[in-house]
Amino acid sequence: MKVLVINAGSSSLKYQLMETDTKELLAKGLCERIGIDGSIKHSASGKDDYKADITMPDHSAAIGTVLKMLVHPKYGVIKDTSEINAVGHRVVHGAEFFASSVLIDDAVMNALKECIPLAPLHNPANITGINACKAVMGDVPQVAVFDTAFHQTLPPKAFIYALPYKYYTEDKIRRYGFHGTSHRYVSQRAAVLMGRPIEELKLVTCHLGNGSSVSAIKYGKSVETSMGFTPLDGLPMGTRSGSVDSGILEYIMNLEHIDIHQMLNILNKQSGVLGISGISSDFRDLDEAAAKGNARAQLAIDVFCYKVTKRIGSASAAMGGIDGVIFTAGVGENSIDLREKILEGLEFMGLYLDKEKNKVRCKETIISTDDSPVKIMVIPTNEELVIAMDTAEIVKGLKK
Ligand code: ADP
Repeated sequence: MKVLVINAGSSSLKYQLMETDTKELLAKGLCERIGIDGSIKHSASGKDDYKADITMPDHSAAIGTVLKMLVHPKYGVIKDTSEINAVGHRVVHGAEFFASSVLIDDAVMNALKECIPLAPLHNPANITGINACKAVMGDVPQVAVFDTAFHQTLPPKAFIYALPYKYYTEDKIRRYGFHGTSHRYVSQRAAVLMGRPIEELKLVTCHLGNGSSVSAIKYGKSVETSMGFTPLDGLPMGTRSGSVDSGILEYIMNLEHIDIHQMLNILNKQSGVLGISGISSDFRDLDEAAAKGNARAQLAIDVFCYKVTKRIGSASAAMGGIDGVIFTAGVGENSIDLREKILEGLEFMGLYLDKEKNKVRCKETIISTDDSPVKIMVIPTNEELVIAMDTAEIVKGLKK
């Protein structure tokens, strides 16, 4: 089955066309500056890459452009858009409505709209992407795959904030967790790599990229995760602060005479390792600066690694044990040094890193010593593949 995977942002749209029977990626690309002017980058297997400025007044125009590229005689991979059997959308927030992926119908669209206050930046863009596909592709089945769904198995003791209870019951304020598609994929791959059923494994998944979260996956289900009501919670990230003492907010707001929007801008865009280092949100830049003796770049790396280390400990405690730890996403898959630093001192928990095996990037590998009681793994994430496979499964079910 050919599935078009769509990840719509407010002015951008990422896409991949996948053949789910073979798990093959046929084409992928990115539309940017939608509603401003418009540009597209497109690549397809066996074809030259394509890049152009094309006017895209809205997301429907962007989808139209994507479809044109997919059937393009020189750059395309299909003859007719009717070959696309289904569309799978990444949707950031499904609140408590969705614990798994779902075929999109009117009731689902209404629920997605109800989730807008919980993800005011992301869900409107996702909804726009769905509407654009409907407008351009008509009756082709569409499926929503949620970042939050995998974490719906968190027990109440893990998702309830210690706030007046009415904020949960009346206003839906609770820990939701994000990166669920990634945590789900890498935990399932880890079980395959370990040659053991996931139903008997206690796994800690570390999704470390621009945004970062650590989850505890007990017997295949998420039971604890570091992101919360919003993706600002938990670990320090590229530009996000992660958890801070909420008393600091008022203190800085008074100090700088700023309002809550400006405060949130500081927490989301000017904090994290960028804030500490004053140099960059990109760990490659920090590594380079630290190697040249920049103390704040080193401190940013130290703070980040220390918090990840502590999270591995607390995720293990939440499960009463640990059989495997997985590193994924940009930093987790690529940074040999950061993995080593994060794992330093965790031998007491049975985590023994093999420093030679750790010299690996973006490849599914066990990097612990042969006799390490806990397996340590690098597993490249593939959220698009999960979206395509979920979509294919739901759509195949419709035909039965
Ligand atoms: P996103 O959350 O945007 O999907 P990614 O998972 O792609 O992010 O991660 C991007 C981050 O990965 C970059 O900002 C960079 O810090 C980090 N990264 C990529 N390659 C390396 C590397 N070789 N060494 C250290 N960090 C890296």
